[in-house]
Amino acid sequence: MFQTHHTHSRFKTNINDSLALPVFSRDGEATTISKFAIPAEPMLPETAYQIVHDEAILDGNARLNLATFVTTWMDDHANRIYAETYDKNSIDKDEYPATAAIEERCWKIMADLWHAPDPTNTIGTSTVGSSDACMFGGLALKRKWQERRKAEGKPTDKPNLVLSAAVQVCWEKFCNYWDVEARFVPCTPEHVLFDGTDLEKYVDENTIGVVAIMGVTYNGLYEPVKKIAAKLDEIEKDTGLDIKIHVDGASGGFIAPFCQPELEWDFRVPRVVSINTSGHKFGLVYPGIGWVVWRDKEALPESLVFHVSYLGGDMPTLALPFSRPGAQILLQYYNFLRLGFEGYRQVQQGSLDVAQYLSKHIGEMAPFELISKGDTIPVFAWKLKDGYTDKWTLYDLADRLRLSGWLVPAYPMADNMSDLTLQRIVVKNGMSHDLATALLTEITTQVAFLDDLTGPLPKEGQHPGFSH
Ligand SMILES: *Cc1c(COP(=O)(O)O)cnc(C)c1O
Repeated sequence: MFQTHHTHSRFKTNINDSLALPVFSRDGEATTISKFAIPAEPMLPETAYQIVHDEAILDGNARLNLATFVTTWMDDHANRIYAETYDKNSIDKDEYPATAAIEERCWKIMADLWHAPDPTNTIGTSTVGSSDACMFGGLALKRKWQERRKAEGKPTDKPNLVLSAAVQVCWEKFCNYWDVEARFVPCTPEHVLFDGTDLEKYVDENTIGVVAIMGVTYNGLYEPVKKIAAKLDEIEKDTGLDIKIHVDGASGGFIAPFCQPELEWDFRVPRVVSINTSGHKFGLVYPGIGWVVWRDKEALPESLVFHVSYLGGDMPTLALPFSRPGAQILLQYYNFLRLGFEGYRQVQQGSLDVAQYLSKHIGEMAPFELISKGDTIPVFAWKLKDGYTDKWTLYDLADRLRLSGWLVPAYPMADNMSDLTLQRIVVKNGMSHDLATALLTEITTQVAFLDDLTGPLPKEGQHPGFSH
């Protein structure tokens, strides 16, 4: 018989009696546990551990998660640092001055990688991820614009931000939470990427800035920052409006410096005033770390910096949360030391190689047409070829792949092109050539299954398939 509530436990609170039973027979584990109210009694740690552990294994396998951009593997030395430092709160800078100093070194390293004109005059911070890093980039733009407008005696009640419709959701949040009008430049079949075309129709005196994305979430492509900046130069010449760029380099901020060093997208472009990245994406650190850096100290209004003294000392802080983990900061620095420039380059190039190996073979399969190849960041997307089949969709394929553990998401393209369904793979450090080959075989099998299930192949001579 099922026990439905903890109050029916055989042993009540007598832990010693319960301990005599093996783990899988103890109270709680072999029964129904309280889920939505805190249990009245404690339970043995082994039992609680086993319950939580067993429930968590129902999650997908992180190593087969090709949906996420976020790090799913670090080496054993990184794991050791994590285990040694998970108790550090990054805000306790006075108590943990070494962690604080390392944080500063990390964003200075980023500033240098991104070609800040004077690395001694930059400012930056770690964040929880790119989402709050983007909020800060946006807030600095907004505050700068407000200060300028106030000085000119002009109203500051209608700020707007210009960005591609394909932005990551954090930018919609920024505009919503901070009352900024989002002016989305739509994705069209002719201009799938935001490239500055028609930009003059979107900007005006209330524009706080323009966002350019290095590594669009939907397809991995880079928006051409230099071209967007050139368009803003033209606009300034015509109208006098001096509009700055924030680059969302959530992914590309850690790829381009190593693998596309010639590409000018960073502080080499004078209009770029701030850049964010996710340390937990291609910075190769476990979830919980992002970075934002400003071109120079002048680009960050001093009014956004808080000075806190109650932990001892005068501590300037620039963050939305107060407490957050410090371990990820140390892991980021570990990676910088461990890998160095050449190590990062090889890891990222390895992921790019696997991404292009996958995209080449997926692009050759009869049902698919590539949207991108994985030669910017190691992320690419494809769609079903027009007319291949109306019997199955990429959502069906995603479901079939999930049966064998592979998480390869299908999703609609951004607004305006949302009837286009894409499927995407994010290749990360740890996705080997062999795993990629296993995935290609599985895709071939599942496409054949879907084709067989839904009817004859549409055209003579078209065979789904991968061989190598
Ligand atoms: C992932 C991503 C974000 C959000 O980053 P988090 O680190 O997950 O908060 C923002 N912008 C882009 C382009 C992204 O890819």
